[in-house]
Amino acid sequence: MREDTIVGVSTGAVQSGVGIVRLSGKDSLGIVRQIFKGNKTFETHTLTYGKIVHDEKIIDEVMVGVMLAPKSFTKEDVVEINCHGGAACIRAVLELCQSKGARLAEAGEFTKRAFLNGRIDLSQAEAVMDIIEAKTDLSRQAAMNRLQGNLKTKIIALREEILGAIAHIEASIDYPEHDMEHMNILKVETVCNSVINQLEKLIRNSEKGKVIREGIETAIVGKPNVGKSSLMNALLNEERAIVTDIAGTTRDVLYDYVDIGIPLKIIDTAGLRETSDVIEKIGVEKTIKEIENAELVLLLIDGSKEISTEDLQILDSLNEKKKIIIVNKSDLEQKVDLSKLQTSGENTVLQISALNLDGINELCETIKDMFLGKEVMSRDEILVSGIRQKNSLLAANASLKEVLMTIEMGMTEDLLSIDLLAAYKSLGEIIGESLDEDLIDKIFLSFCLGK
Ligand code: GDP
Repeated sequence: MREDTIVGVSTGAVQSGVGIVRLSGKDSLGIVRQIFKGNKTFETHTLTYGKIVHDEKIIDEVMVGVMLAPKSFTKEDVVEINCHGGAACIRAVLELCQSKGARLAEAGEFTKRAFLNGRIDLSQAEAVMDIIEAKTDLSRQAAMNRLQGNLKTKIIALREEILGAIAHIEASIDYPEHDMEHMNILKVETVCNSVINQLEKLIRNSEKGKVIREGIETAIVGKPNVGKSSLMNALLNEERAIVTDIAGTTRDVLYDYVDIGIPLKIIDTAGLRETSDVIEKIGVEKTIKEIENAELVLLLIDGSKEISTEDLQILDSLNEKKKIIIVNKSDLEQKVDLSKLQTSGENTVLQISALNLDGINELCETIKDMFLGKEVMSRDEILVSGIRQKNSLLAANASLKEVLMTIEMGMTEDLLSIDLLAAYKSLGEIIGESLDEDLIDKIFLSFCLGK
């Protein structure tokens, strides 16, 4: 199956200075030689300047990078043609490569080859995607740590511990005369407890991993003119939403990522109020829906005015939601009675001025504490990526707990190895061992094209 040579566009679909068409497979160099005009020595790991030609016509002026097997991303011969980054250039070069025998790569196929050829394990392959998708410095760092193999190393070590326990049991089954049973049971128990401890830390961290990777869906709500757009601007640090003095001008739902250390997916809304204006109404309906989906609601109140029943109604409608009540316009004379905002006695209330950016840092810190806890996370922390990896951790953990149960119930030793082996296999799934080919195909197809 990996006999063929694949080609794909490795740069995104935007118009840019440079676009890269990448080939991988044994014919990569041969294909490029047929369409290249210039010095065709192509020393490995160097760039060669020249032209891509078709029927004597120059298609583009390019730089060609050659990385011969096995020192390449896929461990196969890889050639990268750096052409001009316009759609027509890229398409012409791509089609020319196809006409010479390269097959258009499927999504994630380069990374899949890197995995199948043993250059990286599955946790590292997934890290490649996470790096590309990272929206903040912290998520990029966590993914980079995985690409460097911190999760893989951890999983291999845990599997070794489990394997040690299995070996002990096998030894005592094979040599029953040595009567090592009691000692072995103790040993197995110790291993299980140790691995469970480590797994549970990884599982706890996986929640943080999700927040760091996917961000927090955040709705900014409040009556018209309280400063929702201004707050969004303050967070975005750029003039993104339209800020005006006229009530209800934020008609559509805006949505953007803000990096406060973790990604906030901010939905700016049209305000929660009854309205007869049709367009405004669409905004309001959307708002209510967005609040339903939001993981965090930032409720804005104008501190320079008395609290209205409307403010309190909005607050009531949020009941169980994770929320922060933000009293805005702290630069003006304050008329708001803060005690009225303590409906349940434990609402988080912050005073800010979106206009001159007072209290914005404190707001960001409060959000981080809410979702990541106060404990400072080290940049080397191992964070698993995605539900697939988390499920494998949970399965391994459950199997090890079964082992402890079996010991407690005084069952025979051979039963222990069944669950130990199951835990060993579940952990193997994270690094891509003991996974079906179909499943592997499915995982890589969720990657982006050209990667
Ligand atoms: P929205 O309708 O809730 O999105 O409110 P806007 O962000 O459009 O703000 C309405 C008005 O309040 C604008 O004139 C803003 O300049 C003003 N405003 C927003 N935040 C503050 C603040 O912290 N202090 C003061 N003095 N004015 C503010």
